[in-house]
Amino acid sequence: MPRTVAVVGGGISGLAACYHLARSPQAPKVVLLEASARVGGWLQSTRTEDGAVFEHGPRGIRPVGAVGRDTLHMVSELGLEGDILPVPGDHPASRNRFLYARGALHKLPSGLGGLLRPVPPFSRALFWSGLRDLVAPASTQPDETVHAFVCRRFGEEVADIAVDSLCRGVFAGDCRALSVRSCFPALFEAERHRRSVLLGLVLGRGKKPGAESPLSRRARAERWSQWSLRGGMESLAAALAAFLRQRGVELHCHAPLRRLRRDPGGGWQLALADGTVTADHVVSAIPAGALAEVLPAEAELLARELRHIPAVAVAVVNLQYEGAKLPVTGFGHLVPSSEDSSLLGIVYDSVAFPEHNRSGAASLRLTVMLGGAWFTQSFGDPAAVAPSLLLRRAQDAVRAHLGLEAAPSHSIVKVHKACIPQYTLGHWRRTESIGRYLTEQGLPLSLVGASYAGVSVNDCIASAKAAVNRLLGQPC
Ligand code: FAD
Repeated sequence: MPRTVAVVGGGISGLAACYHLARSPQAPKVVLLEASARVGGWLQSTRTEDGAVFEHGPRGIRPVGAVGRDTLHMVSELGLEGDILPVPGDHPASRNRFLYARGALHKLPSGLGGLLRPVPPFSRALFWSGLRDLVAPASTQPDETVHAFVCRRFGEEVADIAVDSLCRGVFAGDCRALSVRSCFPALFEAERHRRSVLLGLVLGRGKKPGAESPLSRRARAERWSQWSLRGGMESLAAALAAFLRQRGVELHCHAPLRRLRRDPGGGWQLALADGTVTADHVVSAIPAGALAEVLPAEAELLARELRHIPAVAVAVVNLQYEGAKLPVTGFGHLVPSSEDSSLLGIVYDSVAFPEHNRSGAASLRLTVMLGGAWFTQSFGDPAAVAPSLLLRRAQDAVRAHLGLEAAPSHSIVKVHKACIPQYTLGHWRRTESIGRYLTEQGLPLSLVGASYAGVSVNDCIASAKAAVNRLLGQPC
């Protein structure tokens, strides 16, 4: 059992690792090292003086599954229940999702009726795609791109339009490069175990555990599709930081890890800009590529695998309009790469979370997501692109797709470099080989965070919890 644990990286993964370490009955001494001036990582919210909240990173967390329940349990324990903003199942933001294809907005079909007749932009009823999945033979390949998998099981149109857009919405990535096994493990497993994705999803594999709380029971009863917090997602990071300080965790910002060295005593020396920290165990919660840069030379094999986990840049453009009306109401719309590869989609933030509008005003808030796997080809180097170009591009899209001609009353442009890891074909082999290396070398090092086993906030929190349980010898 380690006496001192250094957690490197103060995003949601590092904070969650500290949270699970600090609340364990045999809590070790915990030190969190964060390179930047603040904790939270991609959880970034701007709160304006007039009460509006603009999200620059995640804006909604799904409550479903064991990981969703665990996050809600943590939120309750942090005392944030009263700040939750749920989106119930019957809300337009839960029911209506759109695609912008062939120059028009299309509502994604829902209900049996929507599946039995052709609904544009699809030329055939989706019922036929479902039927194809029920009869198509299962593959024995160890992995496949998301596009190839969906093409094989549901047909080309579903892959080219629906799944292409979905991968852009979730991973800002290209479904022709992403791995189905790592990006959508439930679909991959469903085919393996039931021969059909639909059958596998319907029959399921039993309810996984996950801490139930009054909040998770409420989420189920009201069929929440997602939730946020009154002060924005960054307030989750702030609440975690406050909890950790109370529990005696040392939080250091402006503390980038420059180099990791093995300590003769079996632990680690962590070289910072202005000194050294020693620890029996290190939890790395920084991106895989960043960890590769600080590993000792003798861990080059590990560094090489880590460098093969790339990440893409996304430009996030928040826009606020006064007195404007959307032509449709819903969560937002995604854009398939065949329509416009540079534009991932537009989120109608004020539909899902009107509580984040500026006080007393019925303003409309939208977020335009640009770039992703197509960033460099569309806008050039993310470090050099002019914010004015991205703003113009976002406004043009809002005008063309939603008919909003007026200029926004407020706008914020952020370019997030290397913000979403890409689980490309064969990612499972890389993570397996990384795990094997750590075991064989007996390294007192745990890897958590979005680079490995899921990019959602829930997945990041779950990976931190699992790593801490393994470290402390507690059941997972
Ligand atoms: P990070 O947030 O990247 O944190 C890593 C931290 O490590 C950073 O604070 C960094 O400064 C620090 N660091 C790096 N190098 C060092 C070093 N050498 N020494 C010390 N510190 C270092 N998920 C959802 O569930 N719902 C959403 O709606 C959603 N939307 C998203 C929208 C965007 C634009 C983005 C970018 C992501 C979104 N995600 C969403 C995904 C999710 O937010 C991220 O995957 C998650 O926040 C990643 O957390 P992390 O802690 O693993 O990494």
